[in-house]
Amino acid sequence: MLDIRVEKVEQRKEKPDFNNLGFGKYFTDHMFVMDFSDEKGWYNARIVPFGYIPIHPASTVLHYGAEIFEGMKAYKTENGYQMFRPYENAKRFNDSAERLCLPTIEPEDFVQAVTELINLDYSWIPDANGTSLYIRPFMFGNDESLGVHAVHNATFVVILSPVGSYYKEGLNPVKITIEDKDVRAVRGGTGYAKCGGNYAASLRAGKVAASKGFSQVLWLDGVERKYIEEVGAMNVMFKIKGEIVTPSLTGSVLPGITRKSCIEILREWGYKVTERLLSVDELITAAENGELEEAFGTGTAAVISPIGHLFYKDVDHVVSNNQIGELTQRLYDELTGIQWGKKEDKRNWCVKVEQ
Ligand SMILES: *Cc1c(COP(=O)(O)O)cnc(C)c1O
Repeated sequence: MLDIRVEKVEQRKEKPDFNNLGFGKYFTDHMFVMDFSDEKGWYNARIVPFGYIPIHPASTVLHYGAEIFEGMKAYKTENGYQMFRPYENAKRFNDSAERLCLPTIEPEDFVQAVTELINLDYSWIPDANGTSLYIRPFMFGNDESLGVHAVHNATFVVILSPVGSYYKEGLNPVKITIEDKDVRAVRGGTGYAKCGGNYAASLRAGKVAASKGFSQVLWLDGVERKYIEEVGAMNVMFKIKGEIVTPSLTGSVLPGITRKSCIEILREWGYKVTERLLSVDELITAAENGELEEAFGTGTAAVISPIGHLFYKDVDHVVSNNQIGELTQRLYDELTGIQWGKKEDKRNWCVKVEQ
Protein backbone atom coordinates (compact mmCIF):
# COMPACT_ATOMS: atom_id res chain seq x y z
CA MET A 1 0.00 0.00 0.00
CA LEU A 2 1.41 3.37 -1.00
CA ASP A 3 0.96 6.38 1.20
CA ILE A 4 0.06 8.98 -1.43
CA ARG A 5 0.21 12.69 -0.68
CA VAL A 6 -2.37 14.62 -2.69
CA GLU A 7 -1.96 18.19 -3.85
CA LYS A 8 -5.03 19.26 -5.78
CA VAL A 9 -5.26 21.94 -8.46
CA GLU A 10 -6.94 25.13 -7.37
CA GLN A 11 -9.02 25.23 -10.49
CA ARG A 12 -9.73 22.44 -12.94
CA LYS A 13 -9.03 22.99 -16.64
CA GLU A 14 -11.84 23.33 -19.11
CA LYS A 15 -12.69 19.95 -20.64
CA PRO A 16 -12.21 19.38 -24.37
CA ASP A 17 -15.10 18.32 -26.61
CA PHE A 18 -15.46 14.63 -25.78
CA ASN A 19 -16.76 14.02 -29.31
CA ASN A 20 -13.55 15.20 -30.92
CA LEU A 21 -10.66 13.98 -28.79
CA GLY A 22 -8.16 12.34 -31.12
CA PHE A 23 -5.38 10.39 -29.41
CA GLY A 24 -3.14 11.66 -26.60
CA LYS A 25 -3.72 15.37 -27.14
CA TYR A 26 -5.42 16.33 -23.88
CA PHE A 27 -4.34 15.59 -20.34
CA THR A 28 -6.26 15.59 -17.07
CA ASP A 29 -5.74 17.93 -14.10
CA HIS A 30 -3.38 15.75 -12.08
CA MET A 31 -0.53 13.28 -12.41
CA PHE A 32 1.03 10.67 -10.15
CA VAL A 33 4.77 10.88 -9.44
CA MET A 34 7.04 8.73 -7.26
CA ASP A 35 10.83 8.62 -6.89
CA PHE A 36 13.26 5.79 -6.38
CA SER A 37 16.78 5.57 -5.04
CA ASP A 38 18.85 2.56 -4.07
CA GLU A 39 18.98 3.79 -0.47
CA LYS A 40 15.33 4.72 0.01
CA GLY A 41 13.53 2.39 -2.40
CA TRP A 42 10.33 4.01 -3.71
CA TYR A 43 9.52 7.22 -1.84
CA ASN A 44 7.54 10.44 -2.07
CA ALA A 45 4.44 9.01 -3.77
CA ARG A 46 2.34 12.00 -4.73
CA ILE A 47 -0.53 13.17 -6.87
CA VAL A 48 0.17 16.72 -7.99
CA PRO A 49 -1.18 19.19 -10.57
CA PHE A 50 -0.34 18.05 -14.12
CA GLY A 51 2.71 19.93 -15.33
CA TYR A 52 6.35 19.92 -16.36
CA ILE A 53 8.80 17.60 -14.64
CA PRO A 54 12.13 19.25 -13.82
CA ILE A 55 14.98 17.12 -15.08
CA HIS A 56 18.76 17.34 -14.69
CA PRO A 57 20.55 17.82 -18.05
CA ALA A 58 22.71 14.76 -17.31
CA SER A 59 19.71 12.58 -16.39
CA THR A 60 20.20 9.01 -17.65
CA VAL A 61 17.04 8.95 -19.73
CA LEU A 62 18.15 11.89 -21.86
CA HIS A 63 21.40 10.19 -22.88
CA TYR A 64 21.01 6.44 -22.64
CA GLY A 65 17.29 5.95 -23.17
CA ALA A 66 16.44 4.19 -19.90
CA GLU A 67 12.67 4.43 -20.26
CA ILE A 68 9.72 2.03 -20.15
CA PHE A 69 6.00 2.59 -20.35
CA GLU A 70 2.57 1.00 -20.36
CA GLY A 71 -0.63 1.75 -22.21
CA MET A 72 -4.01 0.84 -20.75
CA LYS A 73 -7.53 2.20 -20.65
CA ALA A 74 -10.38 2.99 -18.27
CA TYR A 75 -13.96 2.91 -19.55
CA LYS A 76 -16.95 4.71 -18.12
CA THR A 77 -19.70 2.38 -16.95
CA GLU A 78 -23.18 3.02 -15.56
CA ASN A 79 -22.02 3.42 -11.97
CA GLY A 80 -18.32 4.20 -12.25
CA TYR A 81 -15.53 2.95 -14.46
CA GLN A 82 -13.57 -0.16 -15.21
CA MET A 83 -10.04 -1.00 -16.30
CA PHE A 84 -9.16 -3.90 -18.58
CA ARG A 85 -6.72 -6.39 -17.02
CA PRO A 86 -4.54 -3.76 -15.25
CA TYR A 87 -2.55 -6.38 -13.32
CA GLU A 88 -1.34 -7.73 -16.66
CA ASN A 89 0.08 -4.29 -17.42
CA ALA A 90 1.65 -4.11 -13.96
CA LYS A 91 3.32 -7.47 -14.51
CA ARG A 92 4.59 -6.56 -17.96
CA PHE A 93 5.90 -3.23 -16.64
CA ASN A 94 8.08 -5.17 -14.22
CA ASP A 95 9.33 -7.44 -17.00
CA SER A 96 10.29 -4.32 -18.97
CA ALA A 97 11.91 -2.80 -15.87
CA GLU A 98 13.99 -5.92 -15.29
CA ARG A 99 15.29 -5.83 -18.88
CA LEU A 100 16.35 -2.19 -18.64
CA CYS A 101 17.78 -2.44 -15.10
CA LEU A 102 15.09 -0.14 -13.73
CA PRO A 103 13.47 -0.82 -10.33
CA THR A 104 10.27 -2.87 -10.19
CA ILE A 105 7.01 -1.81 -8.53
CA GLU A 106 4.62 -4.00 -6.57
CA PRO A 107 1.67 -4.68 -8.94
CA GLU A 108 -0.72 -3.69 -6.12
CA ASP A 109 1.06 -0.32 -5.81
CA PHE A 110 1.03 0.19 -9.58
CA VAL A 111 -2.73 -0.39 -9.74
CA GLN A 112 -3.31 1.72 -6.60
CA ALA A 113 -1.44 4.68 -8.12
CA VAL A 114 -3.50 4.46 -11.30
CA THR A 115 -6.79 4.01 -9.43
CA GLU A 116 -6.29 6.91 -7.01
CA LEU A 117 -5.32 9.21 -9.86
CA ILE A 118 -8.37 8.23 -11.92
CA ASN A 119 -10.64 8.63 -8.88
CA LEU A 120 -9.45 12.21 -8.49
CA ASP A 121 -9.79 12.98 -12.23
CA TYR A 122 -12.94 10.90 -12.67
CA SER A 123 -14.76 13.74 -14.45
CA TRP A 124 -12.25 13.36 -17.32
CA ILE A 125 -13.39 9.87 -18.32
CA PRO A 126 -15.26 10.59 -21.55
CA ASP A 127 -18.64 8.98 -22.11
CA ALA A 128 -19.18 9.58 -25.83
CA ASN A 129 -19.47 6.45 -27.92
CA GLY A 130 -16.11 4.76 -28.51
CA THR A 131 -14.15 6.98 -26.13
CA SER A 132 -12.06 6.02 -23.09
CA LEU A 133 -9.46 7.33 -20.68
CA TYR A 134 -6.00 6.32 -21.86
CA ILE A 135 -3.61 5.60 -18.99
CA ARG A 136 0.12 6.10 -19.56
CA PRO A 137 2.34 4.90 -16.69
CA PHE A 138 6.05 5.35 -17.42
CA MET A 139 9.40 5.18 -15.68
CA PHE A 140 12.78 6.65 -16.47
CA GLY A 141 16.30 6.27 -15.16
CA ASN A 142 17.18 9.51 -13.44
CA ASP A 143 20.79 9.48 -12.22
CA GLU A 144 22.32 12.92 -12.43
CA SER A 145 25.58 11.79 -14.00
CA LEU A 146 26.89 10.65 -17.39
CA GLY A 147 28.37 7.39 -16.15
CA VAL A 148 27.17 4.37 -18.10
CA HIS A 149 25.75 1.79 -15.71
CA ALA A 150 22.47 0.46 -14.35
CA VAL A 151 20.70 3.38 -12.66
CA HIS A 152 20.50 4.09 -8.94
CA ASN A 153 17.65 6.60 -9.24
CA ALA A 154 14.39 6.49 -11.16
CA THR A 155 11.10 8.32 -11.45
CA PHE A 156 7.69 6.72 -12.00
CA VAL A 157 4.87 8.84 -13.43
CA VAL A 158 1.27 8.22 -14.45
CA ILE A 159 -0.59 10.58 -16.76
CA LEU A 160 -4.14 10.30 -18.12
CA SER A 161 -5.54 11.34 -21.47
CA PRO A 162 -9.17 11.16 -22.63
CA VAL A 163 -9.11 9.63 -26.12
CA GLY A 164 -11.55 9.23 -28.97
CA SER A 165 -12.34 6.08 -30.84
CA TYR A 166 -9.28 5.11 -32.84
CA TYR A 167 -11.20 5.07 -36.10
CA LYS A 168 -13.17 8.21 -36.78
CA GLU A 169 -15.38 6.50 -39.34
CA GLY A 170 -15.54 3.17 -37.54
CA LEU A 171 -13.44 0.07 -38.06
CA ASN A 172 -11.65 0.21 -41.44
CA PRO A 173 -9.13 -2.05 -43.16
CA VAL A 174 -5.63 -0.57 -43.37
CA LYS A 175 -2.86 -0.79 -45.97
CA ILE A 176 0.33 -2.42 -44.75
CA THR A 177 3.76 -2.72 -46.35
CA ILE A 178 6.16 -5.48 -45.36
CA GLU A 179 9.41 -3.90 -44.18
CA ASP A 180 12.52 -5.72 -45.40
CA LYS A 181 15.18 -3.14 -44.50
CA ASP A 182 14.77 -1.75 -40.98
CA VAL A 183 13.96 -4.06 -38.08
CA ARG A 184 12.16 -3.15 -34.86
CA ALA A 185 13.90 -5.51 -32.48
CA VAL A 186 16.14 -8.54 -32.30
CA ARG A 187 16.16 -11.60 -30.11
CA GLY A 188 18.34 -10.87 -27.10
CA GLY A 189 17.53 -7.19 -27.42
CA THR A 190 14.60 -5.31 -25.92
CA GLY A 191 11.77 -6.36 -28.24
CA TYR A 192 9.68 -7.93 -25.48
CA ALA A 193 10.06 -4.87 -23.26
CA LYS A 194 7.75 -1.90 -23.72
CA CYS A 195 10.47 0.70 -23.94
CA GLY A 196 10.79 4.01 -25.72
CA GLY A 197 13.97 2.88 -27.49
CA ASN A 198 12.07 0.29 -29.53
CA TYR A 199 9.80 3.05 -30.75
CA ALA A 200 12.72 5.34 -31.63
CA ALA A 201 14.16 2.57 -33.80
CA SER A 202 10.83 1.99 -35.55
CA LEU A 203 10.04 5.56 -36.58
CA ARG A 204 12.05 5.70 -39.81
CA ALA A 205 10.30 2.74 -41.44
CA GLY A 206 6.95 4.16 -40.33
CA LYS A 207 7.80 7.51 -41.86
CA VAL A 208 8.86 6.03 -45.20
CA ALA A 209 5.75 3.81 -45.26
CA ALA A 210 3.48 6.77 -44.53
CA SER A 211 5.03 8.77 -47.37
CA LYS A 212 4.00 5.95 -49.72
CA GLY A 213 0.44 5.84 -48.44
CA PHE A 214 0.68 2.92 -46.01
CA SER A 215 -0.62 3.21 -42.47
CA GLN A 216 1.83 0.75 -40.88
CA VAL A 217 4.69 -1.61 -41.60
CA LEU A 218 4.73 -5.34 -41.01
CA TRP A 219 7.99 -6.15 -39.22
CA LEU A 220 10.16 -9.12 -40.04
CA ASP A 221 12.57 -10.74 -37.59
CA GLY A 222 15.93 -9.02 -37.18
CA VAL A 223 18.14 -12.05 -37.80
CA GLU A 224 16.89 -13.57 -41.05
CA ARG A 225 14.35 -10.94 -42.24
CA LYS A 226 12.16 -13.97 -42.83
CA TYR A 227 9.59 -14.39 -40.09
CA ILE A 228 6.62 -12.13 -39.38
CA GLU A 229 6.79 -10.36 -36.01
CA GLU A 230 4.37 -7.47 -35.52
CA VAL A 231 2.46 -4.80 -37.38
CA GLY A 232 3.41 -1.24 -36.40
CA ALA A 233 3.06 -1.21 -32.61
CA MET A 234 0.52 -4.02 -32.61
CA ASN A 235 0.64 -7.78 -32.54
CA VAL A 236 -0.62 -9.49 -35.65
CA MET A 237 -2.88 -12.46 -36.38
CA PHE A 238 -3.80 -14.26 -39.58
CA LYS A 239 -6.68 -16.58 -40.38
CA ILE A 240 -5.29 -19.15 -42.80
CA LYS A 241 -7.63 -21.95 -43.93
CA GLY A 242 -9.77 -21.52 -40.83
CA GLU A 243 -6.85 -21.62 -38.40
CA ILE A 244 -5.55 -18.58 -36.53
CA VAL A 245 -1.79 -18.17 -36.75
CA THR A 246 0.15 -15.61 -34.73
CA PRO A 247 3.91 -15.19 -34.29
CA SER A 248 5.21 -16.87 -31.14
CA LEU A 249 6.78 -14.80 -28.37
CA THR A 250 10.39 -15.37 -29.29
CA GLY A 251 11.80 -12.42 -27.35
CA SER A 252 11.59 -9.81 -30.09
CA VAL A 253 7.77 -9.69 -30.07
CA LEU A 254 5.92 -7.61 -27.48
CA PRO A 255 3.62 -9.85 -25.39
CA GLY A 256 0.41 -7.92 -25.96
CA ILE A 257 -2.48 -8.18 -23.52
CA THR A 258 -4.95 -7.76 -26.38
CA ARG A 259 -3.12 -10.60 -28.19
CA LYS A 260 -3.38 -12.83 -25.13
CA SER A 261 -7.07 -11.97 -24.68
CA CYS A 262 -7.83 -12.69 -28.36
CA ILE A 263 -6.13 -16.08 -28.12
CA GLU A 264 -8.22 -16.98 -25.05
CA ILE A 265 -11.48 -15.85 -26.69
CA LEU A 266 -10.74 -17.56 -30.02
CA ARG A 267 -9.93 -20.85 -28.31
CA GLU A 268 -13.15 -20.62 -26.33
CA TRP A 269 -15.01 -20.12 -29.58
CA GLY A 270 -13.51 -23.37 -30.82
CA TYR A 271 -10.88 -21.97 -33.19
CA LYS A 272 -7.50 -23.56 -33.49
CA VAL A 273 -4.94 -20.91 -32.55
CA THR A 274 -1.29 -21.62 -33.25
CA GLU A 275 1.61 -19.56 -31.96
CA ARG A 276 4.54 -20.32 -34.20
CA LEU A 277 7.12 -18.92 -36.59
CA LEU A 278 5.35 -17.75 -39.75
CA SER A 279 7.57 -16.89 -42.68
CA VAL A 280 6.74 -14.06 -45.02
CA ASP A 281 6.95 -16.51 -47.96
CA GLU A 282 4.35 -18.76 -46.37
CA LEU A 283 2.11 -15.77 -45.74
CA ILE A 284 2.41 -14.43 -49.28
CA THR A 285 1.81 -17.88 -50.77
CA ALA A 286 -1.33 -18.20 -48.63
CA ALA A 287 -2.46 -14.78 -49.87
CA GLU A 288 -1.84 -15.78 -53.50
CA ASN A 289 -3.70 -19.10 -53.11
CA GLY A 290 -6.69 -17.47 -51.49
CA GLU A 291 -5.94 -19.28 -48.23
CA LEU A 292 -5.32 -16.12 -46.24
CA GLU A 293 -8.85 -15.34 -45.15
CA GLU A 294 -8.35 -12.54 -42.64
CA ALA A 295 -5.52 -10.51 -41.12
CA PHE A 296 -5.60 -8.05 -38.23
CA GLY A 297 -3.48 -6.23 -35.69
CA THR A 298 -4.23 -6.26 -31.95
CA GLY A 299 -3.37 -3.63 -29.33
CA THR A 300 -4.87 -1.44 -26.63
CA ALA A 301 -5.15 1.73 -28.72
CA ALA A 302 -7.08 0.36 -31.71
CA VAL A 303 -8.14 -2.95 -30.06
CA ILE A 304 -8.48 -4.76 -33.41
CA SER A 305 -7.23 -3.33 -36.69
CA PRO A 306 -8.26 -5.18 -39.88
CA ILE A 307 -5.64 -5.43 -42.64
CA GLY A 308 -6.97 -4.91 -46.17
CA HIS A 309 -3.75 -4.72 -48.19
CA LEU A 310 -0.36 -6.38 -47.77
CA PHE A 311 2.36 -4.93 -50.00
CA TYR A 312 5.53 -6.98 -50.51
CA LYS A 313 8.25 -6.80 -53.18
CA ASP A 314 6.24 -4.50 -55.44
CA VAL A 315 3.11 -6.62 -55.30
CA ASP A 316 -0.11 -5.59 -53.59
CA HIS A 317 -2.03 -8.47 -52.02
CA VAL A 318 -5.63 -7.74 -51.14
CA VAL A 319 -6.91 -9.46 -47.99
CA SER A 320 -10.65 -10.26 -47.44
CA ASN A 321 -11.48 -8.09 -50.48
CA ASN A 322 -10.35 -5.13 -48.39
CA GLN A 323 -13.39 -5.69 -46.16
CA ILE A 324 -13.53 -6.31 -42.41
CA GLY A 325 -13.40 -10.08 -42.03
CA GLU A 326 -16.26 -11.79 -40.23
CA LEU A 327 -14.09 -13.11 -37.41
CA THR A 328 -12.21 -9.80 -37.14
CA GLN A 329 -15.51 -8.00 -36.59
CA ARG A 330 -16.79 -10.59 -34.10
CA LEU A 331 -13.59 -10.36 -32.08
CA TYR A 332 -13.73 -6.55 -32.08
CA ASP A 333 -17.36 -6.62 -30.91
CA GLU A 334 -16.60 -9.13 -28.16
CA LEU A 335 -13.54 -7.35 -26.77
CA THR A 336 -14.94 -3.82 -26.91
CA GLY A 337 -18.24 -5.13 -25.53
CA ILE A 338 -16.44 -6.47 -22.47
CA GLN A 339 -14.30 -3.33 -22.12
CA TRP A 340 -17.24 -0.94 -22.27
CA GLY A 341 -19.23 -3.12 -19.87
CA LYS A 342 -21.85 -3.96 -22.48
CA LYS A 343 -21.09 -7.67 -22.67
CA GLU A 344 -20.79 -10.12 -19.82
CA ASP A 345 -17.27 -10.26 -18.42
CA LYS A 346 -17.23 -14.04 -17.90
CA ARG A 347 -13.49 -14.18 -17.44
CA ASN A 348 -13.38 -11.47 -14.77
CA TRP A 349 -10.95 -9.38 -16.81
CA CYS A 350 -12.26 -5.98 -15.82
CA VAL A 351 -11.46 -4.28 -12.52
CA LYS A 352 -14.53 -2.24 -11.61
CA VAL A 353 -14.42 0.93 -9.52
CA GLU A 354 -17.71 2.42 -8.32
CA GLN A 355 -18.15 6.15 -8.00
C1 LIG B 1 1.98 -2.11 -26.55
C2 LIG B 1 2.41 -2.87 -27.74
C3 LIG B 1 1.61 -3.89 -28.32
C4 LIG B 1 0.21 -4.21 -27.84
O1 LIG B 1 0.11 -4.59 -26.51
P1 LIG B 1 -1.28 -4.48 -25.77
O2 LIG B 1 -0.99 -4.94 -24.39
O3 LIG B 1 -2.22 -5.36 -26.48
O4 LIG B 1 -1.71 -3.06 -25.83
C5 LIG B 1 2.13 -4.60 -29.39
N1 LIG B 1 3.34 -4.30 -29.90
C6 LIG B 1 4.11 -3.31 -29.40
C7 LIG B 1 5.44 -3.06 -30.01
C8 LIG B 1 3.68 -2.57 -28.30
O5 LIG B 1 4.44 -1.60 -27.83
